[in-house]
Amino acid sequence: MIMAKPKPIEEIINEIKGFDKILVAGCNGCVAVCEAGGLKEVEILASALRMYFGNQHKNMQIDEVSLTRQCDKEYLAEIKDRIGSYDAVVSIACGAGVQFMTEMYNTKRIYPGVNTCFIGVTEEKGVWTERCQACGECILARTGGICPIARCSKRILNARAAALRMENARSTKTCPADGSLSMSGSKSSENSRDSRSP
Ligand code: SF4
Ligand code: SF4
Repeated sequence: MIMAKPKPIEEIINEIKGFDKILVAGCNGCVAVCEAGGLKEVEILASALRMYFGNQHKNMQIDEVSLTRQCDKEYLAEIKDRIGSYDAVVSIACGAGVQFMTEMYNTKRIYPGVNTCFIGVTEEKGVWTERCQACGECILARTGGICPIARCSKRILNARAAALRMENARSTKTCPADGSLSMSGSKSSENSRDSRSP
């Protein structure tokens, strides 16, 4: 699945502060699994934004929707009758979903509410690690089922060398809740709803 982490809420606020009516749009696909952009995260982000603008005494209407997927026109079409009434949308789908919504509703401002990180797997609750960089020419059959592109920092395209290297140092990208991105061993993502507090 596509892994993402929430953008710092200050970044989102900065993008939408000039508007009066915002739709927060989630995706119940990949980003729901990694707890960055599903129904629950839509509710949390919308609540945090309402609280922030309320404290600023700004009359901002913030509505919510959560689509089955944002990378599919059939589901994006579900908001066609209501999107026109909003000044802008904050989409918390992955980058593909944000782009597809922008293409479909090209007169509307669509802002990304998450940072898309990688294609990965769930290692354990709250920990996701990278497995694929979508290179378009999969060589897993020749590398013992280990992706040297996504998982080896030196991208060694030799099965034994890659396996040995993997034992010593799995390439890791950490995407913690504070929005920083660091490399050390294998790529992983740890998202937290706490990051939504302005
Ligand atoms: S829009 Fe992105 S996050 Fe949502 S289902 Fe499609 S690929 Fe996954
Ligand atoms: S070689 Fe690695 S990056 Fe390329 S498609 Fe296969 S798993 Fe993905």
